[in-house]
Amino acid sequence: MSAGSMSILPKKKLLAFFPLSFLAIASFFISVLVWGNVRLENKIYKDIARKILHKGMSEQYAYELLKKITSVGPRLTGSPQAEAAVELTRRIMHELGLDNVHLEPTEVPHWVRGEQEEGWISSSNSGRISVPVAAIGGSIATPTQGISAQVVEVKSFSELNRLGDKGKGKIIFFNRPMDPKLPNTFQAYMAAAIQRVQGATEAAKHGAVGALVRSLTMRIDDYPHTGLMQYDPGVTKIPAACISTRGANLLSELLKKDPSTTFGMKLSCVELDPVVSHNVVGDITGSESPEEIIVMGGHLDSWDLSPGAHDDAAGCAHSLEALRLIKELDLKPKRTIRAVMFMNEEFGGSGGRDYARSENRKGEIHLAAIESDRGGFLPVGFGVGDSQTFKPFKKWESLFQSVGLFWLRPGGGGVDIAPLGQQGTLLIGLVPDSQRYFDVHHSGKDVIETVNPRELELGAIAMALFAYLLSEEGI
Ligand SMILES: [Zn+2]
Repeated sequence: MSAGSMSILPKKKLLAFFPLSFLAIASFFISVLVWGNVRLENKIYKDIARKILHKGMSEQYAYELLKKITSVGPRLTGSPQAEAAVELTRRIMHELGLDNVHLEPTEVPHWVRGEQEEGWISSSNSGRISVPVAAIGGSIATPTQGISAQVVEVKSFSELNRLGDKGKGKIIFFNRPMDPKLPNTFQAYMAAAIQRVQGATEAAKHGAVGALVRSLTMRIDDYPHTGLMQYDPGVTKIPAACISTRGANLLSELLKKDPSTTFGMKLSCVELDPVVSHNVVGDITGSESPEEIIVMGGHLDSWDLSPGAHDDAAGCAHSLEALRLIKELDLKPKRTIRAVMFMNEEFGGSGGRDYARSENRKGEIHLAAIESDRGGFLPVGFGVGDSQTFKPFKKWESLFQSVGLFWLRPGGGGVDIAPLGQQGTLLIGLVPDSQRYFDVHHSGKDVIETVNPRELELGAIAMALFAYLLSEEGI
């Protein structure tokens, strides 16, 4: 008899060994054991979710944290306020009793806006009209007296390319609005942001003397929305500004009536030498596997036109408050849960890159990273991993629904945690409702008055629950 032929008895014969009643009783007990455990586990997690929810909503401390961070003022990379925010959040982490509180260096750009910009339209019909503009982050200045030139309006780079040399000596006016038909405003933003990022370079290739970009918001108002731009090496640098949406509409109208309408702008920004700033790190050390890390974070830097309440003091407050809730509820996570206040998301993302490659990461295993960088509005879901890595998490959806979140879906990530993703860390992004985010984004309107304390707290609660579940269950 070969080993292969020692095969199991045919099923019928096997069954004959066991009376049916015995099988039925055994399967009943097995199912009680299995489902009993599942129920028990869910009940424990449901109890914990309720505790986190009740403590968070009773105290609403995320908003207190937000007040502290925004009280520093705008926190542009390289600014004294950004440094003050580093010190402030380090102190907060100590006060919360976190472990391993420390700073990690990262080099950041130091661009300074200078005097408030001036923008003006001159047309034969209407004379000179002042309009709100702001230099785009990284732009060069205009000469001290400003520049003034005729304007060519385009909605896309292909339209610009079709103009041939008609852009020579002109200001190119990129006036493509964010697409209002898209329900997700981030998609509309991503589609239009190329004008701001690459507009000056594309305009310069056509001999333009300046670039003017419609602000990336769907609101029609008088606030310019800044953000990052890039100059391509080998292409002449020309000054670039964003114009308020009301200003953009007016300029477009006047150009239709009088194509010889000119635009003037005066920018006095300057790029100084880069400086060393810091990411701020603090932990709740894991009780069983401290080397395995669940990291949560937002970015401490903001644009300079407002204190960046939503972008991204909210994400920092979410992460700090999530750790506070876990700590004060004495949940004692199995794995280490960490908060990182990343420096320099806005001006190139050096903080996220330097965190991932720091010497301090030796011996650490980053299982998962949760980023909050979409504002402090009502959280609606989490994007988790990709379509494959997401699958095991679907079963947790009902737990999140118990704290007011609607869904878990594939599609996690964020600028600061992306470098960890390249090392195999599961990436997760908190997704708040997006409808009002671009009303304030990168503009003078991103102030604490636009943040609702309950909505903000719900974000922190959801992050606390996710970090805790990951610390207990692993991935
Ligand atoms: Zn941001």
